[in-house]
Amino acid sequence: MTVLAVAEHRRGDLRDVSFELVTAGRELAADLETDLAVAVIAGDVEGFAEALNREGVDTIYTVANGEEFNHGVYAGAIKELCAELDPTALLLPNSVNGLDYAPAVAGALELPLVTDVIDIESGEPVEVVREQYGGKVETAYEVDSERYALTLRATEWPPAESPGDATIEAFDVDVDEDALGTTVKGFEEVASGDVDITDADVLVSVGRGIGEEENIPLVEELADALDATLSSSRPIVDNGWLPQNRQVGQSGKVVTPDVYVAVGISGAVQHVAGMKGADTIVAINSDPNAPIYDIADYGIVDDLFEVVPQVIEAFGGQAP
Ligand code: FAD
Repeated sequence: MTVLAVAEHRRGDLRDVSFELVTAGRELAADLETDLAVAVIAGDVEGFAEALNREGVDTIYTVANGEEFNHGVYAGAIKELCAELDPTALLLPNSVNGLDYAPAVAGALELPLVTDVIDIESGEPVEVVREQYGGKVETAYEVDSERYALTLRATEWPPAESPGDATIEAFDVDVDEDALGTTVKGFEEVASGDVDITDADVLVSVGRGIGEEENIPLVEELADALDATLSSSRPIVDNGWLPQNRQVGQSGKVVTPDVYVAVGISGAVQHVAGMKGADTIVAINSDPNAPIYDIADYGIVDDLFEVVPQVIEAFGGQAP
């Protein structure tokens, strides 16, 4: 009996969700009075294993095969690891990659799979929580099986930080290269010159309160003055005022910046689902009852067209 978590990396960096899986895994392993194993597959597995050596991890299995994510390699390696370790719980990231291989692994191992899990209550049976109806309802599911696979939503568990003393073991997997259905040939940036809002430390996010497309330069200037990246709520993208890769939320991106400045954003559940993991949330909204104030650490209840130029100037910029 063990808990097995599978780390995720992209282009040479471990993704934050890997450390969140460690936290979730060690809580579950402690409740079940069992071990936590972490698997890291492909890329700089030795370097990744060192970074993943956090408190509560008993063993880290490294599977050296290729540089980047590959469905066949991941699915094959995890199946072999499960055959060896027979884990009670298989914890995977609820990411594009995780959702690519999780069903294949769960299907092959005949494990019940619950995706997009935001909480786990160990017990017999284990209970897991998901959000439904765009985050308006939380539903608890009993997983009536001794063994199960879960994909965990990013930002729901704090990342594991304290160093640990795990054993690091190389795990050899036989991969038939000819049988791989897909091969990663390289990467292309989504749009030349554009940015990945999930990497930003500071985000200025603009919502419908901005009124018109011609006012977007005002928040661009605010982002410049704060050395921040510009993101938005969905209506801004639906209107075609910013590209889709700037959208934060349930149908956009999940972001975890140090500071998130919400300008003219009401704080609908679908938006909050994408930014509630920010360390500090600042809201500028003229409506004191806007739901964004339920989660904001700081708020300025005023007309953004009055406030934003003053903030720009206070930070040495010049309002357009
Ligand atoms: P609004 O809700 O219209 O809020 C505008 C705010 O600006 C108001 O609170 C108002 O008080 C304030 N304001 C207006 N004028 C000023 C001013 N002059 N100064 C200061 N404040 C002002 N939304 C997302 O953002 N991301 C998603 O990924 C997403 N996915 C969705 C998925 C589904 C299935 C569904 C059904 C919806 C989704 N939505 C998403 C839409 C979501 O429900 C909201 O409609 C949306 O987030 C609202 O965007 P907003 O806050 O910019 O606009």
